[in-house]
Amino acid sequence: MTDGSSEAQRASQGPGRSPRQTQISPTTQGSANSQRISHWIEGRRFPGTSGRTAPVYNPATGQLVAEVDLASVGAVSAAVAKAVAASKDWRHASLSARSCVLFAFRELLHERTDELAAVITSEHGKVLSDAAGEIARGLENVEFATGLPQLLKGDFSEQAAAGVDVYSIRQPLGVVAGITPFNFPVMVPLWMCANAIACGNAFILKPSEKDPSASLFLAQMWKDAGLPDGVFSVVQGDKVAVDALLTHADVAAVSFVGSTPIARYIYETGTAHGKRVQALGGAKNHALVLPDADVEMAADAVVSAAYGSAGERCMALSVAVAVGEVADPLVDAIAARLPKLRIGDGTHPDTDMGPLITAAHRDRVAGYVGAGAQQGATVVVDGRAEDVPSEGFFLGTTLLDHVTPEMTVYTDEIFGPVLCVVRVETYEQGLKLINDNPYANGTAIFTRDGGAARAFQFDVEVGMVGINVPIPVPVAYYSFGGWKDSLFGDTHMYGAEGMSFYTRGKVVTSRWPDPATSSVDLGFPRTR
Ligand code: NAD
Repeated sequence: MTDGSSEAQRASQGPGRSPRQTQISPTTQGSANSQRISHWIEGRRFPGTSGRTAPVYNPATGQLVAEVDLASVGAVSAAVAKAVAASKDWRHASLSARSCVLFAFRELLHERTDELAAVITSEHGKVLSDAAGEIARGLENVEFATGLPQLLKGDFSEQAAAGVDVYSIRQPLGVVAGITPFNFPVMVPLWMCANAIACGNAFILKPSEKDPSASLFLAQMWKDAGLPDGVFSVVQGDKVAVDALLTHADVAAVSFVGSTPIARYIYETGTAHGKRVQALGGAKNHALVLPDADVEMAADAVVSAAYGSAGERCMALSVAVAVGEVADPLVDAIAARLPKLRIGDGTHPDTDMGPLITAAHRDRVAGYVGAGAQQGATVVVDGRAEDVPSEGFFLGTTLLDHVTPEMTVYTDEIFGPVLCVVRVETYEQGLKLINDNPYANGTAIFTRDGGAARAFQFDVEVGMVGINVPIPVPVAYYSFGGWKDSLFGDTHMYGAEGMSFYTRGKVVTSRWPDPATSSVDLGFPRTR
């Protein structure tokens, strides 16, 4: 049962003490056996009273480590109400004042990377160096957003008509929400909130319920950086919280990253309720390996991108398309690398690959390996048979050869340590395979032929392309986004498109009164 009214009431009553007196753990509160992960509203932890919680596990041990509150509609309304009030002040903050907060946040993120990485690993399972890597890529977005005075400049046209000047300005939307997936609990929120806050909005984060602690760590750092209370909030939760955000009249825009069916739902529901929505979905990223590629280097790249973070990356390479005679040596080179990968607890410095996010997801991925074998793929390396730690949600690495486009291992996003090899005869067949796929997030070509690489970049129908680069996540001053079923909406995330998404344009036409030229004229205004 939910109890939204009491949650809402408590938020509106406020804390009754100053923020500086609020000494809290950045992540969770409670005894070792009963960690409770709460919301963050108006600059402080805000325990839920809905009575609904979800379990949070350490995937490396399989142990329950916390319960996360699942927000009621009332708690979401409370967060939005506080954010509305905060956004009204925040949009008045000068550009340099906003920029100072972002610089301070950047410093904290930098200083506290190791702590935050440990929080990520404890709930997600990825190895610490990978967690630090996602923080570093998120930090780039904060650095980009520190340039907001430059980024928010408008245009000015003097003398657009006699005595008339025209100029454009960009203004914040008000309250915007971000709904994020489990696989990047820091980087993806930073894709969104850095720009949204820089633009003068208040931002409400609804993180994944599977690894929610990082969201509170970020919230504490925003506060410590001097961000006014209410400008960054967190509502923990599930579909109830998401639907409450999608339908709330005071939420102007929603950024979403997650699986394709939910992305589609978010886009359709959010836009039906009059919101601006960008919803990034799932992926099936292909690596096209041409016969002239350096096989050893291509194998290194493909293994890194297929099995890093246990394949739980939207930019993971999950299909290697081997053209012509490169297939046999490529499969051999990949297979030779897999036994060397050390699978285990991500906190151990010598671990290469951690566990999957949940037991259910591990079993689902293992099920795909079985289905691939049944449907006729050659199981070159079987991750189910690998000797992995028995505690926790571990699964070994799988390599499937002779995969064909009808097989479920090819059609579905598996999101685990499974690499499919599809063999084709020609470059054209490989390109067609990629362009026929409904997902179009990322892709990469491996070749030494500049002409082939350029043709691929020109013809491939995918949003992010790597040329001998396996994970082409754009740097923060470009924008991130796929095509087709990997993105619903018109704007990609972060970079210049992010600044555009989180603002709306206004154009001012101005004339200083001149009695000499004043007259009544009912004709339509002309510039000549
Ligand atoms: P998910 O779609 O299950 O969940 C994403 C968010 O949506 C979470 O906050 C979750 O609580 C919420 N949600 C889940 N079910 C919902 C429902 N029925 N109604 C409303 N909200 C719901 O995704 P995930 O498992 O957390 O993350 C993995 C997926 O995210 C993969 O498909 C991956 O490709 C994708 N992803 C895409 C990108 C990208 O940039 N395109 C980046 C990272 C992850």
